[in-house]
Amino acid sequence: MRKHLFEGIIRAPLTEPAPSPDGAALTELANSLDRTARRRLGGSLSIRVVDAGSCNGCELELHALGNAFYDLERFGFHLVASPRHADVLFVTGPVTTNMREALERTYSAIPNPKWVVALGDCALDGGLFAGSYACVGGVASVIPVDLHIRGCPPPPEKIIEGLLALIA
Ligand code: SF4
Repeated sequence: MRKHLFEGIIRAPLTEPAPSPDGAALTELANSLDRTARRRLGGSLSIRVVDAGSCNGCELELHALGNAFYDLERFGFHLVASPRHADVLFVTGPVTTNMREALERTYSAIPNPKWVVALGDCALDGGLFAGSYACVGGVASVIPVDLHIRGCPPPPEKIIEGLLALIA
């Protein structure tokens, strides 16, 4: 028992070290976010996720953020169930015709100030599904987007870099 306690004290943490904020994301955010608004977040973010029609690849990467290795909550980021408790709306996938109204209503339900992050290539411009009869297009064609996190799907560390840019 004593041996295990001693090992627990001297062993380095097994979690992924914190990445630096993404440089490209910081540049994009500089155009849409002023520092005062960012300071209001107080170094913590409540995030509501909407799958607007993704293949679920982006969701798998999002789920990985909650595991012990990436441990998203140690940065002060929390996923919330209600848009009324959220600061940030994460949207994955191209926006399908069926999800358009749900996305608009979720966006309207988030109190100001609020920010929208489009996650993945599909959320940027429709990605693989661009031009489909069932899709409206990228998230920006439905609601204003403050930050795009690219990738198909974006890996967890890329998502954390983007989030850190929001509160940098
Ligand atoms: S970006 Fe890739 S992983 Fe994400 S929803 Fe589109 S196809 Fe799926």
